[in-house]
Amino acid sequence: MAKFDFDLLTIGAGSGGVAATRRAASHGAKTAICEEDRVGGTCVLRGCVPKKLLVYGSHFADAFEDAAGFGWQVGPRDFDWARLVARKDRELDRLNSIYLEMLDKAGTQLLAGRARLVDAHTVDIAGRTVTAKTILIATGSWPDLPDIPGIAHAITSNEALSLPELPTRIAIVGGGYIAVEFAGIFRRFGVEVTEIIRSDQILRGFDGDIRATLTEEMKHAGIKIEANTTVQRIDKKNKRFELHMQRVGQAQHTVIEADLVMYATGRTPNTKEMGLEELGVGLDPNGAIRVNEGSRSTVTNLYAVGDCTDRLNLTPVAIGEGRALADTLYGGKPRAMDHSGVPTAVFSQPPIGTVGFGEEEARERFDAVDVYLSKFRPLKHTLSGRETRTMMKLVVERASDRVLGCHMVGEDAPEIVQALAIALKAGARKADFDATVGIHPTAAEEFVTMFEAVRPDNEEN
Ligand code: NDP
Repeated sequence: MAKFDFDLLTIGAGSGGVAATRRAASHGAKTAICEEDRVGGTCVLRGCVPKKLLVYGSHFADAFEDAAGFGWQVGPRDFDWARLVARKDRELDRLNSIYLEMLDKAGTQLLAGRARLVDAHTVDIAGRTVTAKTILIATGSWPDLPDIPGIAHAITSNEALSLPELPTRIAIVGGGYIAVEFAGIFRRFGVEVTEIIRSDQILRGFDGDIRATLTEEMKHAGIKIEANTTVQRIDKKNKRFELHMQRVGQAQHTVIEADLVMYATGRTPNTKEMGLEELGVGLDPNGAIRVNEGSRSTVTNLYAVGDCTDRLNLTPVAIGEGRALADTLYGGKPRAMDHSGVPTAVFSQPPIGTVGFGEEEARERFDAVDVYLSKFRPLKHTLSGRETRTMMKLVVERASDRVLGCHMVGEDAPEIVQALAIALKAGARKADFDATVGIHPTAAEEFVTMFEAVRPDNEEN
């Protein structure tokens, strides 16, 4: 009789957990996956997918306006939020059943319930004891809320995706991916949006020109950004809320009113009350499971991938970590996920696509860096009349001519930068970009026609 019930037991059926388990099963491992919620995880149920569907829905607001410049007469418009939410939910149900089918086809047993580790090989799942030679934790993350009076009145992205109705005014606290994406969505649906950020600019860690360009675009779209401001207290007044705010350098505090308050101030790894501390699994102060480059925790047969390890919290990264682990353990192909040169997008409006080093970071890390930048009005908007600019930027190491970073704010930026990420992964040089023929007329051709550095490296940079 086998010593354990399973070769691999995965806790958490999100992107990383499902990818690892299916890959392990394809290599012949006997697998099970445990999930307390529906299968799919944050990306499918509460994140990337439903968010992107709402982004698509919100695009029509601008598209109807832009149509007039091309001769179209668009009649009175009416938008039904409840209908969009219902159609989005129906799509999530469909994806959920596809996930279930995939696991079933892979021969993976789905164990419903919350898991708690009893020892390094034993897990209690809602009163049932299951054993496995290897355990993989892929429990993801959850929105993190600061401890201020009245915070219970705030919603997070979890609720924002399925609001019963749209508010007239929303205050969004935070300046990261989620905050700017939802600011764009709500604004296009006609909501008055105020975004409150504690630092001077949105999207800390991104290239400076990306941050500045998106800020301009958001302001242009009517989104109010309250910078250098912290919220001290949220009071409920009948059906609305008062946010008491303090701005850096101002003695007086200010108050704004909103019908809904949303917080998007980061996410915390889901690692509490799982028996990890008791087992001696090394955790970071924020609860992230400490792992080596092979996703192994400080307990030999216990591994972790995805947001619960707080490395690069992106769906494709969790999937990559999970597959690398399964190939290593069961496929005879030992390898580690490469966390360098990972492209990312922010589905703001306009969206951002970015890969590699931003200008500021490149100048800190490399000796001499040249910057090529183009900012222009997209051809489409010469007729639509919309006041919007696309920004494209290349960051190049002078000594090697290697392109260190590609950045774009503008329509289709995520689609364009995905392809450029291949070039960067292959070590492309600026000369390779210059030798590439553009496709005309596109926005993307600008990336291969920027011949003169706008900020050549010099003493002042
Ligand atoms: P981020 O970590 O991206 O941003 C958090 C924001 O909240 C920052 O602007 C930060 O300000 C601010 N903040 C943190 N604590 C406080 C506080 N106590 N009071 C006020 N402001 C605060 O988190 P998100 O929640 O936006 O997203 C979580 C993660 O989800 C992202 O890091 C990303 O990995 C992933 N994600 C990816 C998406 C994509 O790929 N398109 C989309 C959505 C999420 P400051 O800058 O000053 O620190």
